[in-house]
Amino acid sequence: MPERTCVGCRAVKEKSELVRLVASLGVLEVDSKGVMPGRGVYICPDPACVNEAYRKKDPFSRSLKRKAALPDAIELWVKIKGRI
Ligand SMILES: [Zn+2]
Repeated sequence: MPERTCVGCRAVKEKSELVRLVASLGVLEVDSKGVMPGRGVYICPDPACVNEAYRKKDPFSRSLKRKAALPDAIELWVKIKGRI
C-alpha cells in the first residue's frame, strides 16, 4: 500500500487512512473520492491534525507547491468529517 505523510502530525500512514486535499481553483478542497487532478496533500481525519496543520506556516501550500486559499479550520474539518 502506498504511504503518505499527514500534514498535521507528520505520521506516515497508508494512503487509505488519510484524507486527500487538493487546490481546486486556488482553494483548498477535500478530494472525497481521491481522484481530483493535481498534487495532493494528506491529513488524518482527526481535528487535532487539522489544528496542528493550521498552527504551522501553511504546510498545505508548501506541500501542494502552489498557494491555496485556506478555509477556516472548522470549515475544513466539517468537510473532512463529511468525507469519513
Ligand atoms: Zn495526522
